[in-house]
Amino acid sequence: MAEDCLFCKIFRREIPAKEVFRDEEVVAFEDIRPVAPVHVLVIPKEHIPSVHDLTPAHGPMLARMFQVANRIADERKIDREGYRLTFNTGPQAGQSVYHVHLHLLGGRTMGWPPG
Ligand code: 5GP
Ligand code: ZN
Repeated sequence: MAEDCLFCKIFRREIPAKEVFRDEEVVAFEDIRPVAPVHVLVIPKEHIPSVHDLTPAHGPMLARMFQVANRIADERKIDREGYRLTFNTGPQAGQSVYHVHLHLLGGRTMGWPPG
């Protein structure tokens, strides 16, 4: 937990968010500035600044994050057409919040390469 971290505050419900899933380990919520018809963020309870700080011990938690994202993709009925799962990591990749978060993006065609 980090006192001044936006996503720690969302996990602790100190800042409101449109939650779509919550358990002991992870929370999923609507991105405040969606860039696709489906844009949900999945975050762990643990304050981990970026993917670059992950260790093998985080494996089960990461699997849980992907499982939750997949389940939301099923619920939003984008599982067949496809979706994108993204971890922006570091400044040049556009990471703006330094608490690990998985972007679930879908509902439109995604370009490649990304911008
Ligand atoms: P990043 O740019 O770090 O990969 O992603 C951070 C994401 O968090 C952005 O897509 C941004 O719109 C979202 N975000 C930033 N502040 C808030 C907030 O207060 N509430 C919610 N729900 N999303 C936020
Ligand atoms: Zn945090």
